[in-house]
Parts: sequence; structure tokens; C-alpha cells
Amino acid sequence: MSERISRRVAAVPPSGIRKFFDIAATMKDVISLGIGEPDFVTPDVIRQAGMASLTRGETRYTSNSGIYELRRAIIEKWAALYGVEYHPENECLITVGGSEALYLVLTAILNPGDEVLIPEPCFVSYEAEVVFAGGTPVPIATQVETLFQVTGAQLEAAVTPKTKAILINYPNNPTGAILTREYMTEIAAVAAKHDLIVISDEIYDRLIYAGQQHITFSSLPGMRDRTVIIGGFSKDYAMTGWRLGFALGPADILAAMRKIHQYTIMSASTTAQVAAITALTDPAAEDAVLAMRESYDTRRKLIVGGLGSIGLTAFEPRGAFYAFPDIRVSGMTSDEFAMTGGEGYVRMCYATAQSQIEEALERMRRFVQRHG
Ligand code: PLP
Repeated sequence: MSERISRRVAAVPPSGIRKFFDIAATMKDVISLGIGEPDFVTPDVIRQAGMASLTRGETRYTSNSGIYELRRAIIEKWAALYGVEYHPENECLITVGGSEALYLVLTAILNPGDEVLIPEPCFVSYEAEVVFAGGTPVPIATQVETLFQVTGAQLEAAVTPKTKAILINYPNNPTGAILTREYMTEIAAVAAKHDLIVISDEIYDRLIYAGQQHITFSSLPGMRDRTVIIGGFSKDYAMTGWRLGFALGPADILAAMRKIHQYTIMSASTTAQVAAITALTDPAAEDAVLAMRESYDTRRKLIVGGLGSIGLTAFEPRGAFYAFPDIRVSGMTSDEFAMTGGEGYVRMCYATAQSQIEEALERMRRFVQRHG
């Protein structure tokens, strides 16, 4: 047996972020701004709901699509917040994190060689997941000049007869960029012209600052039928370890995704699903989301101001919980600086204690002084 591992899988390098964590793990007294997850414990009311479900003995599989009441709660929330209606029966699927939803949609729509346009910098998993699903990722570099938004012209220039989909993520990991209606309209025009599917990863939808409002991509005229929304509980509700997410989209694509999910996963965690109903419907959970958002906002201002004062210009992130400073003043490559990120920039997650952010800024100030 000469090749034990499939070429498709062997071709994907291990995650660069892991390399950085492995190095950090060998050092003493490291302040990590590396991990992209909330530093909060899941709000108490949500944890209580999970525990109560276990106490009631709810330990079996749920329906493949997920608990109906949870699907209905997601749909009602999406309609109330963003004005787009979905049907709980066939346009919503509960998944193991947004990660599973992403994997399912790519596997459901791609034939070998189909191309997926991916604005970069982007979440580390996108390119690998496209390759695992048999497709070809086509990265498109976004620029700080357009506030890391992808333009219609950039997409248009990258479209070929093999292009099948555009994969966007706003609020964005790692830049913290959000997408204005103007740019969304440009993306929508390219999708409509070339009959493309839009996968819109909106996992940070509630984490948006500076008086901005999230706009769901499917609310744009003509986009509902060609858009699959990826959502989740990890970030907005500080539930990364519960592994719960969802997809919203047209019934034909959702049915194909459900088929893969049925055969590979069956159903997401029952406990997590029950807890998520409380996350969406209990006013105490909503209060907790707003309080966490306010806390991230305070830290966002602290890190952006601090980076500016040590000469690392940070584009103002208005979503998610990442700052993305320009580190070229240090004279180093991104890999040398932090071993991650789009070239010339590094990602810093500010979902970290304020005192740690302050100490990290002080250390970076000394570091930049030594190398600048
Ligand atoms: N999408 C983006 C942009 C992310 O940053 C992440 C996590 O970091 C995910 C999806 C996956 O989230 P989860 O699978 O925990 O829902």
C-alpha cells in the first residue's frame, strides 16, 4: 500500500494556528491573544437549562434536523432581528457547531474541481474544507483600503466557468470587518449574474459595535434562494464547548445537507440543543449577550487605542472580537511576528481579561521598540 492517506487530505497542511499554540505551550508566562473564543463561561441560565435537561433524563437522539422548538426559536429570532423568514420544517438544520454546517454545505454543493471564491484573510478552516469537499479554493485578497470588504470587481475578475460559490464571513474573523449594504449589493450582483451560491458565515452576527447593525445576506433582493446562512452559538452565547450551530437556506440545498448530516452525525447534542432554546428565548440570556458585547466593546477600544499608541496601526474592527494590526513597522513578516495571519498583519483576539490585554500591549510596545 503506497498511499495510505488520500491525496485530497494529504494536500492540506496542518493549521498554522496550531503551530503557534504548540510553541506558546512550551513557554512560561505567555499571554495568549491567539484563541478565537469568548473568555466568558456560558451564561448561567443557559447552563441551568442544560443541566435540567440531563436531570429530566433527556439523553436520546433528537430528530435529524434538530429539536423542532429550537429550529422555530432560531427562525423567529432571525426574522425578528433581520427580517428574513425561514420554514422550520425544511429550511433550518441544527448542526455540530457552525463548523459542521460549513462542511455540509460545501459537500452538498461541490463537484470535483468546482471553484469557491474566498475573500481573504479568512477563518483558517475555509480553504481546507473546500479541498476536503473536492473543490478548489480561489482566494481573493481584500485590502485595508476597502476596510477588508470584498468588492464586486474583485469577485468578477475571479469568476470562471467553474465557479460555484462565494464564501463570505462578516463580521469577519480575523479582521473584525463588517460588510456595508453597498458592498453586499455588489456581491449580490455578481452572484446573480453568474448564478452562484453564496455561503454567508454569520456566526458573529450579534457581536457588532460602534452603532452598526448586522444585515443578513439573504435579506438582499433575490438572494434568499441562493444563500445559505451559517450561524451558531459558540461566539454570541459563549458556548464553544457545547458544539452547536445551524444552517438556514433554500429547501433543496438544506435537504442535501440533511442527507449528509443524517448519515454522518445523526443529530447534534441533545443537551446543547435544549440549552440553546433557553439561550434564544429567555430574557436573562439576552441580557447576558448584551452585557458580554458591551464588555468586548470596552476591550476593543482598549486594544485599538493601545496598538495605535505603540505605532501598530489597527484598522478599527467593528465586529467579532479580533483586532488586526498592521505590523510592518516592526520590520518582520507576520509569521515572524506571530506565526499567523494575512501577510503584514496579525490577528489578536481581545476576548481576554482587560489586565492581560494591558500587559500584552506593554510587552508588544517593548518588542516593537526593540525591532522597529
Ligand atoms: N466560522 C468562523 C468565522 C469562525 O471564526 C468559527 C470559529 O472560530 C467558526 C465558523 C466555527 O465555530 P463553531 O464550529 O464553534 O460554531
